[in-house]
Amino acid sequence: MADGRSRLVVLAGPTAVGKGTVAAEVRERHPDVWISVSATTRPPRPGEEHGVHYWFVSDAEFDRMIEADDLLEWAVVHKAARYGTPRGPVDQALAAGRPAMLEIDLQGARQVRRTMPDALFVFLKPPSWEELVRRLVGRGTETEAERTRRLETAKDELAAEREFDVTIVNHEVPVAAAELVALMTVPTRAS
Ligand code: 5GP
Repeated sequence: MADGRSRLVVLAGPTAVGKGTVAAEVRERHPDVWISVSATTRPPRPGEEHGVHYWFVSDAEFDRMIEADDLLEWAVVHKAARYGTPRGPVDQALAAGRPAMLEIDLQGARQVRRTMPDALFVFLKPPSWEELVRRLVGRGTETEAERTRRLETAKDELAAEREFDVTIVNHEVPVAAAELVALMTVPTRAS
C-alpha cells in the first residue's frame, strides 16, 4: 500500500449477505487493513469475544457513549439492539494512514455519508434473493420470527444499492474480500 493513500471504506448490504464473513476474510488475509470494532447492546453469541467481535456494552453504557459524542454513527438494527462505531479509533487509524473499514448497517452508512462524505461506500449484494434466503436459513443463528423480521429489513436494504458508490456481488468470499481491499488504495495522482 506504500504507493497509494489510504481511505475509509464503509461496507453495508442486506442481512445475511455475508458482510461479517467478508470482513473476517479481510481481517485474516490483510492485517494491514484496520477494521472497526463496534459497540453493541446485544448479548454475545457463543464464541464471540469482547473487544474482538464487538464491545458488548449495557444500555446505560451505550447511552453514555451517545451522550459523550463518542460514536461516529449508531442505529437500532433489526428492531432488536443498538450498534455503533466508536469514533476515536477510526480517527486514529486514518491519521496513521491505515486503510480503514466499517462494516455497518444501512442506517449507519447513511449517517457516515453525511459526516464523512469522502469515504467510499460499498454495497455488498447477494447473487440472488433466493441465495440470500438460503444463507439466512443456513446459518441457523436466528429463530423463525427473527428470520422473518430480518428478511423484511433485507427487502428495504436491497433497494438502497443505488445510494452506494460501488457494488460487489458476494459470489465467493475470498474474491469479494480481494475486490474490497483493492478499493481501499487509490493510486496517488501526479500533480
Ligand atoms: P449481528 O448482530 O448479526 O452481529 O449484526 C447485525 C447487524 O448490525 C449487521 O447488519 C451489521 O452490519 C450491523 N452492525 C454491526 N456493527 C454496527 C455498527 O457499528 N453500526 C451500525 N449502524 N450497524 C452495525
